[in-house]
Amino acid sequence: MRRLSFHGKTQVNRPTILTGDRTTGPLHIGHYAGSLSNRLRYQDSHEQFLLLADTQALTDNARDPEKVRRSVMEVALDYLAVGIDPSRTTICLQSHLPALAELSVLYLNFVTVARLERNPTIKDEIRARGFGRDIPAGFLCYPAAQAADITAFKATVVPVGDDQAPLIEQSNEIVRRINATAGRDVLPEARAIIPKAGRLPGIDGKAKMSKSGGNAIALSASPEKVRNAVKAMFTDPNHLRVEDPGCVEGNVVFTYLDAFDPEQDGLAELKAQYQRGGLGDGKIKARLEAILQELIAPIRMRRSQLSEDREYVLEVIREGTERARERTEATKRDVVNALGLFQL
Ligand code: ATP
Ligand code: MG
Repeated sequence: MRRLSFHGKTQVNRPTILTGDRTTGPLHIGHYAGSLSNRLRYQDSHEQFLLLADTQALTDNARDPEKVRRSVMEVALDYLAVGIDPSRTTICLQSHLPALAELSVLYLNFVTVARLERNPTIKDEIRARGFGRDIPAGFLCYPAAQAADITAFKATVVPVGDDQAPLIEQSNEIVRRINATAGRDVLPEARAIIPKAGRLPGIDGKAKMSKSGGNAIALSASPEKVRNAVKAMFTDPNHLRVEDPGCVEGNVVFTYLDAFDPEQDGLAELKAQYQRGGLGDGKIKARLEAILQELIAPIRMRRSQLSEDREYVLEVIREGTERARERTEATKRDVVNALGLFQL
């Protein structure tokens, strides 16, 4: 087994980042464009915590705890495979950090049901999941739990996809209420960093790419899977013959090229040609496939090597969770003290 060492503590005064992923399946290229690439960039300049959000995953997967359990390893492997370095970034497991649950319960008293129901992210997700009136209470309340996650680490920076921005706003509202009640700034507010690429749509072009939506290209996808996904990708349904003018907006292939094509000048030219007519879907799909294969191949290779050393990955999670436990317990004590609750 490799020895683990952590270098993060040597640098002080770096802003703290908290992000994470629900453990609902392997991560996809939307995560890469939307958050992982930022997280890689911040490893040195920030003190960074990544949360394997298994408790949150249960809020809409309570009937399938086995998937949630299995996916902890999948997401951890994805982190390490894209280059998250556990000696600089702390990877930790949500369900093993009791302070997060305790803070969640406290925070639920600082938010109303009406405000939770008005949250645009929650509204979208309720619709996408087809809950109707049968919304699990844990799901409706997860913004308060997410506020607990962010504040327990006293994070001030949260790099997320743009679907998450309203959750950060709601977290800050809770922070302001707690600070007002305490009469001092016990918790800091956080700022969301939204990547340029925004929200990557699914290969069906309908909704955002998501682990649970069946419309994703996983970072661990085989070359065949990548090829088939690109082949099946939604383009412009009215672009029937090569010589027809085609539409670039809403054309998923171009959206992905915008996010991943390293040669953006050449891409602008290609778009103009597509719009004029004379460029077939086959050509743009071939360009996209080559780019995605090149992005995914090294990740897949590293991931398959790491999956041979399960003990190492477990040790990374254990150590990270231990470090995170100290941090989150300290914040819980601060909040309980600041609110002036009874102490024994
Ligand atoms: P699930 O379907 O289980 O909700 P998910 O694919 O939406 O999974 P999450 O774990 O909910 O993934 O999200 C983790 C992070 O990845 C969040 O910051 C989210 O904004 C970002 N993210 C998820 N999907 C996309 C996407 N399609 N484009 C950009 N960012 C994304
Ligand atoms: Mg999601």
